[in-house]
Amino acid sequence: MRINCEVQVSNRTGGIVNKKCSRSSLGLGRLPESKAEVSSLFIHLCTIQNKQGTKYKVAGNIEGVFTKFVSEGKFTIRFKEPPHDVAAKADVVLAKSFLSTLKMALQNKDIKKMHLSNLAPAKQSQLEKPKTKLVILNKKDYPITTSFPYSLENLRVNNVELNRVENRIIGLKRLKTLDLSHNVIRLLPVTMSKMQSLTELHLSHNNLREIDHRIFTGTLSRTLKLLDLSNNELELLPVTLKYLEGLVNLNVSSNKLKCLPLSIGRSQSLKFLSASHNKLEVLPATLFHLQLEELDVFGNSFIAAEDRDKLNLVAASKSRRGFPRLREIAAMCCRRRGLRPTAADIPSTLVDYLNSWLKCLCGGFCYESHTLSYVSLDFRKISHSFSINDRDNILAVATLCSKRCCDRYCKR
Ligand SMILES: [Zn+2]
Repeated sequence: MRINCEVQVSNRTGGIVNKKCSRSSLGLGRLPESKAEVSSLFIHLCTIQNKQGTKYKVAGNIEGVFTKFVSEGKFTIRFKEPPHDVAAKADVVLAKSFLSTLKMALQNKDIKKMHLSNLAPAKQSQLEKPKTKLVILNKKDYPITTSFPYSLENLRVNNVELNRVENRIIGLKRLKTLDLSHNVIRLLPVTMSKMQSLTELHLSHNNLREIDHRIFTGTLSRTLKLLDLSNNELELLPVTLKYLEGLVNLNVSSNKLKCLPLSIGRSQSLKFLSASHNKLEVLPATLFHLQLEELDVFGNSFIAAEDRDKLNLVAASKSRRGFPRLREIAAMCCRRRGLRPTAADIPSTLVDYLNSWLKCLCGGFCYESHTLSYVSLDFRKISHSFSINDRDNILAVATLCSKRCCDRYCKR
């Protein structure tokens, strides 16, 4: 057992023996010929300055192991002789694994079965700084049998004909930027929703036809800031896009989209939206609830504003007005009072329902009882930078909450 870590060694009788060294390796092992028992075990600390390393006896020589901050990968081992405190910081999983092996060893349990170090001097590669960035631009460089370094924060794999996002990539806990552009990916695995550090996901120039709505519901929904799905085959975006609460930059240009989700106006962090070169006929009116810095909808086939009345006749037949159901009245009441019940309070289907609101142009909330209507809006007002063909006003599809709002917005 050997882990890469940062280590600082202090001498309790005075001063620091080793200043913090980011290139260290901490091993638990025994000499190859020795007996498989705790009395033969040593903790072996090698640093870039001292590759031979320092060996600390384990049996009867550990005064304490401090693990209060092990959830951050930090722990300290206090030795009796020499009177050293070895403070280490490693990957959380590796730190926990090292400490659990040490605990088993101290209890003299299964030492024969343990994967122990042979106390040989550390190799240069074992003392290298954990790799945080990897760029693969050639098919032959893509690892087939080896895993990706656990420490990766930035992974770029382009032009290698990759056809799926592997679990080896999804499991990289520190990954912040993933660029798989220019490949042949058709589907994204639902497990991507569990990626916990990812802030940028680049998937342009692939063969994506659809995106499972569950992908945007896990931890990924809290971390993702940039999503590039441009130059794919997408015809529809999942409504769960609204759950990406920190999304700042969304690029869905050059797809086959006929519409954007009505709920897109709920992505309050969104600043840059590019949906150029699609088949968009109208835009969702909820975009007016956003404060965009850039909106690019150039190269779409927007319906002429003169056709509004014709469209509204069709829309009227799809609108759901009438006396609201009890569920809807209760949901509106929750929203007005700012109540946020969770699955611990009410059935999860009701939590989902509560969360399915849409916004009317007036800022009010709508559930089922709303009027779907096409309104003519000047989209130049919502963004500093706006790219569109040559039309001033384009049609927006809106969910209007009341007759008063219909009178107010439909007659413009
Ligand atoms: Zn309204």
